Amino acid sequence: MTTYHSTRDAGNTLTASQAILRGIAPDGGLYVPDHIPSLDIALDQLANLTYQETAYAVMKNFFDDFTEEELKHCIAAAYDEKFDDATIAPLVKADGHYYLELFHGPTIAFKDMALSILPHLLTTSAKKNGSTKEIVILTATSGDTGKAALVGFADVPNTKIIVFYPKNGVSAIQEKQMVTQKGDNTYVVSIDGNFDDAQTNVKNMFGNADLAARLDAAGYQFSSANSINIGRLIPQVAYYVYAYGQMVKQGAIAAGEPMNVVVPTGNFGNILAAYFAKQMGLPIQKLVIASNENKVLVDFFQTGAYDRNRDFILTTSPSMDILVSSNLERLLYLMADENPQAIQTFMNQLKEVGRYEVTAAMKEKAKDFYADYANEAEVSAQIASLYHTDGYVIDPHTAVAAHVANSYTAETNDATPIVIASTASPYKFPQAVLDAIDPEFGDGTMEEMLERLRELSGVAYPKAIEELLHAEVRHDTVIASDEMQDSVESILGLKR
Ligand SMILES: *Cc1c(COP(=O)(O)O)cnc(C)c1O
Repeated sequence: MTTYHSTRDAGNTLTASQAILRGIAPDGGLYVPDHIPSLDIALDQLANLTYQETAYAVMKNFFDDFTEEELKHCIAAAYDEKFDDATIAPLVKADGHYYLELFHGPTIAFKDMALSILPHLLTTSAKKNGSTKEIVILTATSGDTGKAALVGFADVPNTKIIVFYPKNGVSAIQEKQMVTQKGDNTYVVSIDGNFDDAQTNVKNMFGNADLAARLDAAGYQFSSANSINIGRLIPQVAYYVYAYGQMVKQGAIAAGEPMNVVVPTGNFGNILAAYFAKQMGLPIQKLVIASNENKVLVDFFQTGAYDRNRDFILTTSPSMDILVSSNLERLLYLMADENPQAIQTFMNQLKEVGRYEVTAAMKEKAKDFYADYANEAEVSAQIASLYHTDGYVIDPHTAVAAHVANSYTAETNDATPIVIASTASPYKFPQAVLDAIDPEFGDGTMEEMLERLRELSGVAYPKAIEELLHAEVRHDTVIASDEMQDSVESILGLKR
């Protein structure tokens, strides 16, 4: 049996479904499994499995209080025609690397991989635990999570979803996707502040006992769609296992040989999923963290000091504009030999002075990781060079990873084949992509940019883009970041 407990308190254990329902622990910690189950499928069999079969093979050992029928139902409901590629996550070779395209879901970014299944895991979990409360999903987003969660939860019975995003911290397409969201149970609010402000206030609401009591009295229960929920993290493990099978199938490696992964990183969820895959026994050699100019993680992995006291930089890869990477707490817990007191100390230091430093022995435990970053000019040059050598168009997040993949290879001479997590469709960030491959184009309306990108890439519009062009705005609230709790209370009609 795999049970879960908080990174800040090992005492209280929960089943998988209870941990999914809670999202974040009452002490502010993140739920971690008591052990990482091993992959019980032979590596040479992986190439024969569909995405759905792979997902089941991975998730059944983590979510072992779900019945086979429940879990297979969740998987089938998530990974269906919502995805515009029958293989769900195709692996595409370009310029010597393998791009794992995780953007074929309904919002054309990789968050769909987890957020299309989370609502099903959550409602199944509620049923299993006899909960009759209405689930309120509270989410802070730097752009992609919000929309993917809104699509996942829209009109799901017995749920409401409230999304906060930084007014000036998301792309035009991302904003339009969110403010046009349909569904009677969806609420979208922008704040005057950055993503970290939004995330901090959401975390504070989760930790507010008085608020929890009033929610309870009103028949509500908070849950989280952020990547801190294990119901998001674990489904992401599946695509690394799937990618490995596809690498074998395409002849890039033989079964048993290693691959490296390079992951454009923000909140540390995606790369942590790769690490879990490695711990399950998947032959991943290096886990390469790729950051943009907000390179707090690069500095941490290089020096052992995590220091958020620095300017927050707005880049062309907004989903990685993050100074506090929530999921790092889970790795830190493993680095600290699963000592909750150590995590409490680090997290208090982070809260109070914005900085903590790990010991050399702890740092040694993270030696499977390598971290580097790409600046804005490098991102742009990378998009252009891949387009000119191979005709393959990538988005700025993926370009951060492609650049770091090249600098990793140049620095280490490691010839292990590389899988790059391709986290968004270029159609989601047309301005930055056009600035890179067609600088003459200059400014244009969203429609003009999309049209030009279609000409250059030769890739048809995904359904998400077609719909966006005709959607009307349904949400237009802007508030100060310290008004977030008031906003939630008024949406839910809570009384003091
Ligand atoms: C969220 C996101 C990332 C960062 O992923 P994390 O799991 O937060 O590290 C990278 N690229 C895109 C396009 C994203 O939406």
